[in-house]
Amino acid sequence: MTPSLTGSCNCGAVRFELTEPLVGAAYCHCTRCRRRSGTAMQASGRITPGSLRIVEGEDRVRGWWAGDGLEKAFCGDCGSSLFARDKDSGEVVVVRLGVLDGDPGVRPMAHQFVADAAAWETIPDDGLPRFDGRMPA
Ligand SMILES: [Zn+2]
Ligand SMILES: [Zn+2]
Repeated sequence: MTPSLTGSCNCGAVRFELTEPLVGAAYCHCTRCRRRSGTAMQASGRITPGSLRIVEGEDRVRGWWAGDGLEKAFCGDCGSSLFARDKDSGEVVVVRLGVLDGDPGVRPMAHQFVADAAAWETIPDDGLPRFDGRMPA
């Protein structure tokens, strides 16, 4: 079976594939995403449950859990943000769009946590709905 999407970190230690299309995407401006990405916002896509498979470097993936929400997973060698997963089950829920190769097939549909946006950021006037907090599921 041909994977529909592939992705990797900057150093190449971690490679993964998605066997099913993404089901949605959004920009997040929350403080955690800003710190994690080092920039104004993070674009993430929601995956079809069970569709992400780590092809290489599973032992290089490290996680950070804030005490609530999803565990943020990144490459322990180069620090690239990769995806977020349920801390207990390990089930990946969202993938960072920036680490995907090629066209993810979906486009961000909203801006969430705009109330937390950095003072220096001008949120793009792209016609997408904006939510002060988490976008409605
Ligand atoms: Zn890496
Ligand atoms: Zn966020």
